Amino acid sequence: MTDIYPENAMYQSTLLIGEYLMDEATHKAPAIDALLTSITGKNRQGVVKFKRCMTCDGTANEFTDELSKLEYTISGMCQTCQDKFFNGGE
Ligand SMILES: [Zn+2]
Repeated sequence: MTDIYPENAMYQSTLLIGEYLMDEATHKAPAIDALLTSITGKNRQGVVKFKRCMTCDGTANEFTDELSKLEYTISGMCQTCQDKFFNGGE
């Protein structure tokens, strides 16, 4: 029979699903991404993938808390830019 899956087929698809779910965590409605891209001229998903900041182009791999990390997956702003943004521009 040729329709019996090799043992690693299951393993492979589990990896794919895991990758998909991890990726999905940073996904948003395409319309919002398009809007962000049009405002910033950058692709948020691409920027976040490479741990860069949407706003200052710096690296964004250190955050003070979980909320800031989550914010980064949404806005793509590094800790410094988040601090500036949420503290009223100073
Ligand atoms: Zn920044």
